[in-house]
Amino acid sequence: MGSKKHPQQSTPPKKKTPTFLLELPLEVEAGEAARLRGHLEAGRQFYNAVLSAGQRRLRQMRADPAWQAARAIPRTHPQERRAAFSALREQYGFSEYAFHELARALRVSWLAEHLDAVLAQTLATRAYRALNRVCVGNARRVRFKSRGRGLSSIENKRNDTGLRFVVQTQDEGRRTGYLLWHNDQLQALIDWDDPVVTHGLGQRIKYARLLRRRASSPRAQGADSEGERYYVQLALEGRPLQKPEHIRGSDTIGLDLGPASIAIVPRHAAARLEPLCAELRPDARAIRRLQRRMERQRRAANPEHYDEQGRPKKRGKRSAPWKQSRGYQVTRRRKATKERKLAAHRKSLHGRLVHQIVAVGHTIITEKLSYKGWQKRYGRSVGLRAPGMLIDHLRRTVASTGGTLHEVPTRSTKLSQFCHGCGQTVKKPLWQRWHQCACGIGPVQRDLYSAFLAAYLDPAADLTPSCAQYVVPWEGAEARLRAAHERAQERAKEGQVLPRSMGIPRAGARLPQSRSEATQELLFLSRRGNVEAWKHRSEPPVLEPGESSAVGA
Ligand SMILES: [Zn+2]
Repeated sequence: MGSKKHPQQSTPPKKKTPTFLLELPLEVEAGEAARLRGHLEAGRQFYNAVLSAGQRRLRQMRADPAWQAARAIPRTHPQERRAAFSALREQYGFSEYAFHELARALRVSWLAEHLDAVLAQTLATRAYRALNRVCVGNARRVRFKSRGRGLSSIENKRNDTGLRFVVQTQDEGRRTGYLLWHNDQLQALIDWDDPVVTHGLGQRIKYARLLRRRASSPRAQGADSEGERYYVQLALEGRPLQKPEHIRGSDTIGLDLGPASIAIVPRHAAARLEPLCAELRPDARAIRRLQRRMERQRRAANPEHYDEQGRPKKRGKRSAPWKQSRGYQVTRRRKATKERKLAAHRKSLHGRLVHQIVAVGHTIITEKLSYKGWQKRYGRSVGLRAPGMLIDHLRRTVASTGGTLHEVPTRSTKLSQFCHGCGQTVKKPLWQRWHQCACGIGPVQRDLYSAFLAAYLDPAADLTPSCAQYVVPWEGAEARLRAAHERAQERAKEGQVLPRSMGIPRAGARLPQSRSEATQELLFLSRRGNVEAWKHRSEPPVLEPGESSAVGA
């Protein structure tokens, strides 16, 4: 560990044990809430004071000519570079340790009554980390905590003094848990029938963190007069309870993740083509409605900020501040609650999908996503479904069951362009949902085809796909891929709304039932031009021999 680098340190670094978190709501009475608010307000002011002093240090350090000299040291000399920077940090007191010293100097008089030394230290660490992100270029600026938003959490480092959590056994063997802070005992609401909770509370508590969250309204259950709710988060030693349904399969799975859909093709088990987090659509719609209401309320309360045509005026430094009506604040609060719920819902949907995948296989191969390109192209969809978070979740879960998630670089594999029949790579335009090649491969839905190609890549060997490796697998896979697409089609008929990228028309649009109907549809489509027709087609295209779909039919 770090002991080699710091031979001068006398105490050996503590052995790191695994940590997991357990969160419990707190029962807080009006008087207690008022005191908590006082402590957190002191914490906020203290944090801002450390942040401000630290920011000064950072600015001075960066203004020093030695800073530019250190930056000029080429990265090929890492030791020299590191030494130059750490000398500067030492000189200007820009280190976690120096910030703890700073915290000691700043924790004076009335602040000390609210914050004990350790809590002040953890706040100083937080301020240091925020500034260090700016220092190393991971953030542009730091954010001071405003009085309105306040400090939303505070934590200890240990559980024997100051802010701490205790579990007590009452006379009749009934157990209760309390968060202790100053002279207050805040009772936690504990569901002792929940195995996850009882397992967690059976572990050693490393430290406790107090959280404050805004409830949906001041009248929400458990909220104080300001509409705040309090929770305790316990950092516990060990690992969380593994639920028994955590079975793991042994297949190898190819994944093709799109901004709104996912194709799952295992080497042996059934293939799937699914919309990603379709259940989030109503939540997202409700949030957009609240957003529009906020916009209307903002306009109504600030007519002077808009011109005659209703466009927002250019703002200078001296323009009057925006007014927030009561209604606006209510809407904002409701929107924040909805957003929190949506995030929790998304997490559980991701979790469900991850478990379904892990139950089939422990080796997963997928192309590395290009989030940046996606964000530009499909901003809202990507933000809502968070495919990147899904991959992170999958990576962690697969690793915890002893498997591997291989992310292969798109540039070398080009799975979405490759055809294993002839070995050609042809770029497909976005609207083209099918892979069909003049060499006789296809028609097959393109995402399923990419996932199939991924499933048979050998992560240990060369990652460029070759024709030979797919000949045998294709024979068995073609029917499975078709079945997956048909199942998705069935669901569309039952009314499920599917993303267009899946090559299935939106729910409500009927699929051609009979020959004559199909002809009519084609007639209709041909009037709107070929490209439009391709976009909305549900059935794979039929090509004349010798014709290639890549040319554009
Ligand atoms: Zn081909």
